[in-house]
Amino acid sequence: MVGRFAPSPSGRIHLGNILCCLLAWLSVRQQGGEVVLRIEDLDSARCPRRYADQMEEDLWWLGLDWDQGPVVGGPEESYYQSERTELYQAALEKLEEKGLVYPCFCTRAELHAASAPHREDGQVVYAGTCRHLTAAEIAKKAKRRAPALRLRVPGETWGFTDGHMGPYSEDLARDCGDFLLRRSDGMFAYQLAVVVDDAAMGVTEVVRGADLLDSTPRQLYLYHLLGLTPPKFIHFPLLLAPDGRRLSKRDADAGLEVLRDRLTAAEVLGRLAYLAGFNSSAEPKTGAQLLADFDWEKVPREDIRIPEGLF
Ligand code: GLU
Repeated sequence: MVGRFAPSPSGRIHLGNILCCLLAWLSVRQQGGEVVLRIEDLDSARCPRRYADQMEEDLWWLGLDWDQGPVVGGPEESYYQSERTELYQAALEKLEEKGLVYPCFCTRAELHAASAPHREDGQVVYAGTCRHLTAAEIAKKAKRRAPALRLRVPGETWGFTDGHMGPYSEDLARDCGDFLLRRSDGMFAYQLAVVVDDAAMGVTEVVRGADLLDSTPRQLYLYHLLGLTPPKFIHFPLLLAPDGRRLSKRDADAGLEVLRDRLTAAEVLGRLAYLAGFNSSAEPKTGAQLLADFDWEKVPREDIRIPEGLF
């Protein structure tokens, strides 16, 4: 089996990213599989290479090693999404050949018009405004604005049984809408890139935060259209700051720049494992020491709030 870490280096990694890498690493190592590290730096302005370098160094410091990826190499030419755009382009062309892709000229303001239904994650269910433009209308609009590209989705239910969270499904047209494959500035969308890469890298198990649970039906639909085999998906609960907010890269005290000055890697991992249910106390443990007690059954299914003063 092959698992992966797929961090976006838009800042220094925080406790939520570390928990993600730890869980993915433990799951792979317990099964004797391989770990791939892929750097999700599609948004190259927000993800400069020095952040990725720092992230790789932080993962080495934590002792969460990988078998394929930056530094160690592997069969792929590059493990940085910013250097893999030809593959995304080829997948896009496959979808275009099926007649499923159309240009969308809507502005951000139009997309967020008050009447648009919003998903729980704040994203907008696309109203389909540009779905039926004629060739003449497209040509006219294209003179004023570069279009984004969207995938036409059917009113079908796509679901799966998550390895930790259980069954989950969505009606693609109603709950999600025609989704972006490429932005108007040419940047490929996460949904397309992640499917192309996980398939190309032979990933058989995806471990990631529950904030991506609702991306999975879209990704399964892309696997189907591209004739690729989907991996097993395991989503785990999110870590919340002591005040109940979702952790973000702006939470400096949860970032490694602060934690590395005060704690050892085993202290960081041991405390995270305690929060995630597979370390009986907050005592320091290395990844290897956590392997014996790691069990998905022990990991909570509700969001985990970090107690004040634990880190
Ligand atoms: N790059 C994404 C993130 O950092 C993770 C994508 C995934 O695991 O599918 O949140």
